[in-house]
Amino acid sequence: MHMKEKAVKAKESEAAERGTNFNEVVLGYDETEALKEAGRCLQCKNPVCISGCPVGIDIKKFIDEIDHRDYKGAYSTIREKNDFPSICGRVCPAEYQCRKKCVLTKKGSPFASPEAINIHFLERFIGDHGMKNKLAPALEKNKTLSRFKVAVVGSGPAGLACAGVLARAGIKVTVFEGLHKSGGVLRYGIPPFRLPRDVLDFEIDYLKKMDVEFIPNFIIGKTKTLDALLSDGYAAIFLGLGAGIPSFLGIKGENLCNVYSANEFLTRINLMSAYKFPETHTPVNIGQHVIVIGRGNTAMDAARAAIRLQRMSGLPPDTTILYRRTELEMPARRLEIEHAREEGINFKFLTKPEEFIGDSIGFVKRIRCLACELGEPDSSGRRRPVEIKGSDLELPCDIAIIAVGLTANKILTKVTPQLKTDKYGDVIVNPDTMETSVKGVYAGGDIVGGEGTVIEAMGMAKKASNAIIDFLKTKK
Ligand code: FAD
Ligand code: SF4
Repeated sequence: MHMKEKAVKAKESEAAERGTNFNEVVLGYDETEALKEAGRCLQCKNPVCISGCPVGIDIKKFIDEIDHRDYKGAYSTIREKNDFPSICGRVCPAEYQCRKKCVLTKKGSPFASPEAINIHFLERFIGDHGMKNKLAPALEKNKTLSRFKVAVVGSGPAGLACAGVLARAGIKVTVFEGLHKSGGVLRYGIPPFRLPRDVLDFEIDYLKKMDVEFIPNFIIGKTKTLDALLSDGYAAIFLGLGAGIPSFLGIKGENLCNVYSANEFLTRINLMSAYKFPETHTPVNIGQHVIVIGRGNTAMDAARAAIRLQRMSGLPPDTTILYRRTELEMPARRLEIEHAREEGINFKFLTKPEEFIGDSIGFVKRIRCLACELGEPDSSGRRRPVEIKGSDLELPCDIAIIAVGLTANKILTKVTPQLKTDKYGDVIVNPDTMETSVKGVYAGGDIVGGEGTVIEAMGMAKKASNAIIDFLKTKK
């Protein structure tokens, strides 16, 4: 193989066509493409890619198995560490993780080089093969543990991953979810054009087949307290509460009509299917000039959803992302930035919103901004944006979407003082076992350590579920 050869690109739907619907954009590899990409892997003596995977998948081994057309073997190699390869193969920020570590990435590059092996597309290929061919591992009939029941609070990737490990060990699992559907951010945050709902539903149905019980519309801390749950005979509890509370800018005019948090905007679209309105009953406002303020995947998802809705409503597409630093500092996945651009989204960098300006009846109409330049690096290591005095500019805006971060969901922790939290409201755990300050109660995902990634949430949940199994084994 020539070292400079670029990775095999996965097929994608055409930008012009995809801008008018919520169908999946990346179509993945077929067998020929997967074999070609697997054949590019150098099978390094020291496979450094593995150190870039938050759950330590044996990447070298599963790629070798694909190369030898042993897809069943590749599926079980991945599933040893990751229960949801079809999900992670679609949403993992591989360019900052395994691909960035791949030896084919140029040294010092801030993210994966185009030559790095497309590990996530290979994982997706195998995950989808496993789904189609029903390769998921069977339930262990563990009689000793089957007398226990465990409660999982929250059905995001952390809760689902924990439920899967416990159910496979023979434990009776009940998942309590505050919303009316399971999946957490995978359902209400990430749009179907990145994660089709049949992929998510397949994983949830598999858990149901393993007798995991899902109880929706049930908020622990409101409908029932944590203590009451423990008194109900649950031998252990896992908290996968996520970081669902949006942060705001704290600037004038933020309470005007049509200023949305990205969470509300995306929840209306993804969970409540606003893009199918009036077939569904929840609409979302859309206007001529949409401005999204943010830098991460949430900002990309909100902008890409908004521009689709503009086109679907017959409006000329005009959606802009405002960010006070530059593209290089954006933490969003590179692929999402590329797709956003292809779909017609404008980027306005080095621009900081100062005030939302409304009309006489309280609807946002303009944003006043200041231009910025980059100064010295701050505590995050990124160069600080410095406002340029007198650089005021106004942009037309009739829908503003704020996507500047999420913090801990405190519904449960607020009413459970015995559950220790840090200054951000995140639950404090023993990092070896993920046990909280309450015996038998474990936690993982975004509620521990703040906004992270799907695979990190699943990794923490897996560690917690193994600790729960050890804990139950010590119980009479
Ligand atoms: P969540 O997914 O937030 O799930 C928590 C669940 O718990 C929710 O369903 C909530 O309703 C429920 N809940 C909370 N409190 C209670 C209670 N008291 N009682 C009952 N239920 C409760 N990561 C990636 O790796 N790749 C991406 O491309 C990516 N894109 C993203 C896009 C968006 C728009 C957002 C918001 C995040 C994205 N992330 C992405 C981050 C990733 O989704 C999160 O890190 C991950 O979902 C965290 O999983 P979790 O299970 O901890 O929490
Ligand atoms: Fe293959 Fe890259 Fe891993 Fe080497 S580092 S084994 S080339 S994926």
